Amino acid sequence: MNFYKPYKETKMVCTLCQHYCKIKEGNTGICGVNKNVGGAIECLVYGYPSALNIDRIEKKPLYHFLPGSKILSLGTVGCDFKCSFCQNWDISQEQKVDKSHYYSPKDIVKLAVDNECPSIAYTYNEPTIFYPYARDIALEAKKEGIKSVYVSNGFESNEVIEDMENIIDAINIDLKSFDPHYYKKNLRGNLDKVLENIKSFKRKKIWIEITTLIVPTQNDSDEELDKIVSFIKNELGVDVPWHITAFHPDYKDLALPPTSVESLKRAYDIGKSYGLNYVYMGNITHETPTICPSCGTVLIQRDYFKETISFLDHSKCFNCGTEIQGVFHE
Ligand code: SF4
Repeated sequence: MNFYKPYKETKMVCTLCQHYCKIKEGNTGICGVNKNVGGAIECLVYGYPSALNIDRIEKKPLYHFLPGSKILSLGTVGCDFKCSFCQNWDISQEQKVDKSHYYSPKDIVKLAVDNECPSIAYTYNEPTIFYPYARDIALEAKKEGIKSVYVSNGFESNEVIEDMENIIDAINIDLKSFDPHYYKKNLRGNLDKVLENIKSFKRKKIWIEITTLIVPTQNDSDEELDKIVSFIKNELGVDVPWHITAFHPDYKDLALPPTSVESLKRAYDIGKSYGLNYVYMGNITHETPTICPSCGTVLIQRDYFKETISFLDHSKCFNCGTEIQGVFHE
């Protein structure tokens, strides 16, 4: 399947993300890794992950999707956003592809099978820019009963979103701000497109969790957090988990302070005050457990990226039988 089409006489449009770059022969788009080669867009990172690890799924973060399981995680160089605070900037803002080792989709799936990983994550940089590779891996993985997880900025093209249905099983989307100017100026993205995409994932029944990196002075006002939480509640529902994670100075934002625990707790309180059932604080040394929204029983206990203990009775609270939203079985 191709994710490009001709544009006028001399260009091709890449249809992988909402930038829809119009690319001349021999040039690449904004991400630097999709190139017009002879009238076709070639994904230069296909087969060349720049990072390949086995993580705990909680690290993605996904808390309601196969909790406690291992996940084979891969990313490539390149990104379609230019976030000044990127925590993975060394690969996301790199465009030089290391071609010393080719991993076919089958190779990646074999690694997942050999390491007993029930799922594979496309993560570290924005996976939409390497969707042709992620898609082929995901289809190969399905043959082995292995699920696929996307960790994304939510800037997929309409074409990619249409295609992801029944291929990608879960997605964690960064909702980085609720300020359209901030999205445009600081991230080179578009808030409205991201919000529309998040709603599309929900309609397509892909399991969604939302993450907001709380960056001091940039997106941490009560007013902005209110808007983020209202969107989650009104458009996605109170059962969609919201991860609020701590920023550490990185890349170009070295002058900003790290997020304080107090600031995370303030965001947590705002989330809970709107009735969100699952608000989780991350990148700090303690992790928030999953608590039954009906009876308050602790259902999943996490120990900072080391161990997860689930007390769920299948997907139900063992104490009162309330159904907990998520994917809890392979
Ligand atoms: S993936 Fe996005 S940024 Fe990269 S070339 Fe395609 S449309 Fe442009």
